[in-house]
Amino acid sequence: MRRLIVGNWKMNGLRGAEKEITRLGELLTPDDRKRADVVVCPPATLLGCLVEEAAAAGIELGGQNCHIRPSGAHTGEVSAEMLADAGAKWCIVGHSERRQDHGERSALVRAKAEAALRAGLTPIICVGEKPEDHEAGRAEAVVGSQIEVAMPNIGISGGRFVTAYEPIWAVGTGVVPRPSHIEAIHARIRKTVGPDTPILYGGSVKGKNAGGILSIPNVDGALIGGASLKAEDFHEIISARW
Ligand code: 13P
Repeated sequence: MRRLIVGNWKMNGLRGAEKEITRLGELLTPDDRKRADVVVCPPATLLGCLVEEAAAAGIELGGQNCHIRPSGAHTGEVSAEMLADAGAKWCIVGHSERRQDHGERSALVRAKAEAALRAGLTPIICVGEKPEDHEAGRAEAVVGSQIEVAMPNIGISGGRFVTAYEPIWAVGTGVVPRPSHIEAIHARIRKTVGPDTPILYGGSVKGKNAGGILSIPNVDGALIGGASLKAEDFHEIISARW
């Protein structure tokens, strides 16, 4: 089955990053393109700069966060409509770094997912347990309630969404959960989102472990931080065998 491979550049990248997109386009083989859809979510400041190179490379762009309103007196914020206007087709919402650094709760994440849908973007809704929840054996319960609250009301908004399971203890740590853990949590998410919603795994995905992770049942793709910054590293993940 076709996989969805999404790069999250987080707060990294200055002008000149176009060359990474162009390089990635050169590295992607026709076979890679058959097996995976590739999305890059750069900082909002770079969307406009990357739009031409991304189109030429056959890569779609996404935002990393959006405000719930389309416009207005919200200093420092960027709306889903603005991301779409700048060339984005996707938007990450509810990333654990937003939940931790900005106190975002699942109800707000749901409003952001609905805002993304309103603007014609596909939201990528992130969920994942904290280390203490993992250690206490509460991962399934925590993630289950996060996705139940954060899931958009498709009946109202229309469109489709994607979910991403990112255990906080695996993000940027080099630690990857056991396959049985990923399988159990993805099965729990599947119960809530149904058969048609892709479920990505994120957290320390690299070229070396991507094939194994992408072979786990109910893993429909990956959300990649550090290893998406360099075209060669990102391509190693996309071209992994699963
Ligand atoms: P790393 O791939 O750097 O662990 O980050 C994962 C992530 O947070 C992607 O959104």
